[in-house]
Amino acid sequence: EAEEEIHFFFPKQQTLAIIKPDAMAEHREEILGEIRAAGFSISQLKEAVLSRDMAEELYREHRDKPFYRQLVDFMCSGPCMLLVLTKENTVEEWRSMMGPTDPVLAKVTAPGSLRARFASDILHNALHGSSNQEHAQEKIHFLFGDITSDRDLTSNGKMDPTPL
Ligand code: GDP
Repeated sequence: EAEEEIHFFFPKQQTLAIIKPDAMAEHREEILGEIRAAGFSISQLKEAVLSRDMAEELYREHRDKPFYRQLVDFMCSGPCMLLVLTKENTVEEWRSMMGPTDPVLAKVTAPGSLRARFASDILHNALHGSSNQEHAQEKIHFLFGDITSDRDLTSNGKMDPTPL
């Protein structure tokens, strides 16, 4: 009981994770299983097809990159799974679990990483993870609105109705 109170007042770090459209059909369940096995709490979970506006806003920081349009097209091309992951040091841990952006590099430097296993190429790379805490909070707020409770959906993938 005491631990739950501490958890409430000092929540662990959150990050935004996305299973991108290329990985949804074949690898979604395996990826969710690995996320749980690695000790992340899945605090929020929803499947959504991003609108163009949403994908553009999500990747706003990349708007001047040559691949921006391709990236937005890809992110709108089918359903995504949007997740809020909670753990200590979660931003860094989730990025390390994903592996490098380019699966060619991932296969060499991080062969066990999710991108080494599930990404097809540098664009269709299966997963998103925020690069820092500030982006994480901003994008979580953008995609989920205000999160007032810290629900743990880890065990069953369903919303836990227990009020805080
Ligand atoms: P991330 O943090 O590892 O996702 O990588 P970035 O923030 O640098 O890039 C965002 C996303 O844009 C990546 O996950 C890829 O889907 C895509 N991307 C990154 N670099 C390239 C590139 O050089 N070419 C193409 N076509 N897509 C890229």
